[in-house]
Amino acid sequence: MTDIRFDTYYRYETLTGFLREWAEHYPNLCRLGSLGQSFEGREIWVVTLTNFETGPDQDKPAYWVDANIHATEVAPSAAALYLIHKLLNEYGRDEKLTYVLDSRAFYVVPRLNPDGAELALADRPRFLRSSTRPYPRTDELDGLHQEDMDGDGRILQMRLKDPHGAWKPHPDEPSLLIRREPDDLPGGDYYRLLPEGRIRNYDGVTIQMAPPLAGLDLNRNFPVNWLPSEQGAGPFPTSEPEVRAAVQFVTDHPNITGGLTFHTFSGVHLRPLSIAPDDSLPSQDLRTYQAIGRKGEALTGYPAASVYHEFKYDPKDYIKGTFDDWLYEHLGLYAWTTEIWSPQRQAGLEVKKYIEWFREHPVEEDLKLFHWAREILGQDGYVEWRPFEHPQLGPVELGGWNVMITWRNPPPHLLEKEIAPLADFVIFNCLISPKLEIHTLTTEKQGDIFTIRLVLHNTGWLPTNVSQKALEMKAVRELEVDISLPEGARLLSGEMKAKVGQLAGRDDKGAVAFWAGDATRERAKVEWVVQAPQGGQATITAVHQRAGTVRVVVDLEK
Ligand SMILES: [Zn+2]
Repeated sequence: MTDIRFDTYYRYETLTGFLREWAEHYPNLCRLGSLGQSFEGREIWVVTLTNFETGPDQDKPAYWVDANIHATEVAPSAAALYLIHKLLNEYGRDEKLTYVLDSRAFYVVPRLNPDGAELALADRPRFLRSSTRPYPRTDELDGLHQEDMDGDGRILQMRLKDPHGAWKPHPDEPSLLIRREPDDLPGGDYYRLLPEGRIRNYDGVTIQMAPPLAGLDLNRNFPVNWLPSEQGAGPFPTSEPEVRAAVQFVTDHPNITGGLTFHTFSGVHLRPLSIAPDDSLPSQDLRTYQAIGRKGEALTGYPAASVYHEFKYDPKDYIKGTFDDWLYEHLGLYAWTTEIWSPQRQAGLEVKKYIEWFREHPVEEDLKLFHWAREILGQDGYVEWRPFEHPQLGPVELGGWNVMITWRNPPPHLLEKEIAPLADFVIFNCLISPKLEIHTLTTEKQGDIFTIRLVLHNTGWLPTNVSQKALEMKAVRELEVDISLPEGARLLSGEMKAKVGQLAGRDDKGAVAFWAGDATRERAKVEWVVQAPQGGQATITAVHQRAGTVRVVVDLEK
């Protein structure tokens, strides 16, 4: 088997090769399937992980993980591959991991948007937000389009001397450009800063940033709070093949009990809601969400945060049509958007306002980041400016932040350290799911009359419904217990198909022991009295969409 390394970012072919090898090498733990095809026709791989010897994945509670829906966010793919690799390698060695694969399943999509990622990782890269489908126009607009002009495999910045420019060299580190003060007089040693690229139909004066031809943002295309006015939302919810395939898969797998979508960057576990404050969540859901978030912080060092309260791009606007909101708001699943990697934290800064920081922060922080980049990546993180003869602008300089491996993603040599703890948070999230099991099964017989008593229980931390939201949305059915009887037998009491509601978990327990008695709300008892003059076997099937399916056969012999 080819050894996978986590100090590099893989293109589609190589990534596919690893998934195929793993599925072949671990047939009892790992199966490779496809959600469907991307816009350009690439298979969107989904890896199902469970111990198939203890039952099929669909009979077990499962956890969803996806990555790389945003084209340049390739560290998320690595995090998903790391998770798969860890599950396969540590099965049988790590107790919790073994238990989770024996009792539960994972659906992992390492690259939800393979087309966009392929461009981001190309030898001569192009950076898109998401998929490569042209939208909302199919013709290119005038203005500056980002491009690797000198063919060095990087898209950096261009700086042009301009006595009226908005940027000036830092007094101690002249390579570092900082904002000009409001009262810095015109005519100084200033620069105009542009992304490395080419200007379509340049008139010699006007430079505007052309909107990218591929203007979709797949994480605005999900069928929740969707609005056409949202940047990149697409023409209608799930209009894009990648999103439609993911939504279809989740819908077809009602055993999914939660989900995590890997993004970059900021070093934070984000959770819904995006459009409303925390007090609009059911109280118990908020407590449970916060408890999971605390565990996430303990395991990974990333704090947990509400998108509404802490991650808005505009304080007066909301982010619409996102995956995690759909999972929580419509399905009642605790979902997370984990933004991997915080360059600021790496540089020793304390950044609380994730997005506002980009608008305003002290210049000392820029200097710290600059020194950090030089220290960890030498000349490749913050690239020294060098002259370049631009075909339209004449002499410019290329250099500045190599955003792809400083901001957007960890530098390859720091990747593994960053993503390793994230697998533990995913495993934790799967482990806390509801899990239906048989508590006891007894049969008493009197002649040809059998009294069967089955006690089922939820052994997971979450209730079988997962959340209050799921009940509110009618997104989850009750536990159903069916009995099928042998030839000649008849049911004297009990129901052929019993509906027994939801079973509690332990997530609502208080933090002190005297708070409340431990009522047995995680249990359900079902009884049947069967007359079976010819003997035979009764089959009992207990099905809960989320908590799993258990089957048991009862002998009815005199
Ligand atoms: Zn993203």
